[in-house]
Amino acid sequence: MDHFPIFLATSEQKILLSGGGEAALAKLRLLMKTKAELHIFAPDAAPEIMEWQAAGKLTLHRRALSAADLPGALLFYAADENDALDAKNAALARAAGVLVNIVDNLHDSQFITPAIVDRDPVTVAIGTEGAAPVLARAIKADLEERLPVTLGPLARIGKGFRKLADALPMGRARRDFWRDYYFAAGPRAMAEGKDTVRPALKDLLQAHLTREARAGHVAFVGGGPGDPELLTLKARRALDEADVVIYDRLISPEILELARREALMIDVGKEGFGPSTAQDHINALLVEHAQSGAQVVRLKSGDATVFGRLDEEIDAVDAHDIGWHIVPGITAASAAVAGIGQSLTKRGRNASVRFLTGHDMKGFADHDWAALARPNEVAAIYMGKKSARFVQGRLLMHGADRATPVTVIENASRADQRVLSTTLNDLPRDLADAEMTGPALTFYGLAPRAAVQAAHETPLEELA
Ligand code: SAH
Repeated sequence: MDHFPIFLATSEQKILLSGGGEAALAKLRLLMKTKAELHIFAPDAAPEIMEWQAAGKLTLHRRALSAADLPGALLFYAADENDALDAKNAALARAAGVLVNIVDNLHDSQFITPAIVDRDPVTVAIGTEGAAPVLARAIKADLEERLPVTLGPLARIGKGFRKLADALPMGRARRDFWRDYYFAAGPRAMAEGKDTVRPALKDLLQAHLTREARAGHVAFVGGGPGDPELLTLKARRALDEADVVIYDRLISPEILELARREALMIDVGKEGFGPSTAQDHINALLVEHAQSGAQVVRLKSGDATVFGRLDEEIDAVDAHDIGWHIVPGITAASAAVAGIGQSLTKRGRNASVRFLTGHDMKGFADHDWAALARPNEVAAIYMGKKSARFVQGRLLMHGADRATPVTVIENASRADQRVLSTTLNDLPRDLADAEMTGPALTFYGLAPRAAVQAAHETPLEELA
């Protein structure tokens, strides 16, 4: 980050701008939203500027900027759209110790004006260090759509109410009240007319003051396969409201970023066969935090109900009468099958699909290999890397065809997704050669759809 975003106080400050054309107009439209005293230097000013001068919104000086104008100014905008003149004025301002912006000249500017979403008093500033103005505009448009225009008035009314709300205990109680206001009661009241907002706010505060402290709770949340866009809206909200997030190794950093800033983040990552945080310890953490009244999110990769030891944790929480619920997530098999352009089930091929684990706590897991070895069966094998040779051996022993397609998808849905397309015969060797270090899902009986490979450049890296 080269440019550091800050919000400058402008009240009773002088901001100077040289220029009277289009660039000046664009900047002035923004600057007039502030409380600053605006001085424009332009021998030739656009009619709009004269109108604003007549309306008392700025002071127009119909001459060039001079050194004597600068002392005491907060900011200077060089907006003459003339390189030599802008450079000369910028030098004057810099000599006077005034921060300079030359319009459309990132390199010679000391500060830049971000793209702004204005829901005064809520202001969002967007910057791309000049790298992608298009992107800044797209983000601005997106935010403008998302932030209701009523947000500004709601925030202003809320601000006047802050002292009263201090009657609520600090922390969760106060946060809950404001969340209710901004996202439920406030917009509802606003829809009925601005005058109903203040009374609604009073009622809401009364309700919050009299309600019992919220009990601790555990949400078992499926964090999906890694791509944050594959989180459900419910998962997002749970993360947004969490006091404590207890997460596994496979949860991607981008997803952890989405947790409420104040949340306590606890990493209980378990390595396949390697060092582990004992399940008992995780259970104890869940109980301890929920009992202290916290909203706990137990964040598991994929879907929490698939190979996640969920029941042990539910039992632990149940044993202490702690409330809980499950938020489903996208399991690795769903993400992986999407990555190879296939279906999990297909008419005429397989009417059922098995989700297997390559190994369980006791070692390699046993399954009905004979049933799986029949033609056209499909299985999604979780945690299957280390057990590839074992699985291959069992299937061949029960008569599976050596040419059965096998596809291994590493880091499904993530930017570093890789696909290994092989056969039952070659699986152990090809897998060893591929040196996969990320989580990988093995499909027995599925090959990547050829069209997917043809349609994109190389979304499916052939490692074999
Ligand atoms: N509850 C999880 C599975 C946990 S077991 C789910 O529903 O997906 C962990 C195994 O899941 C890993 O060993 C790997 O086989 C698989 N897995 C998890 N995330 C994956 C990903 N992004 N790509 C491929 N496989 C993944």
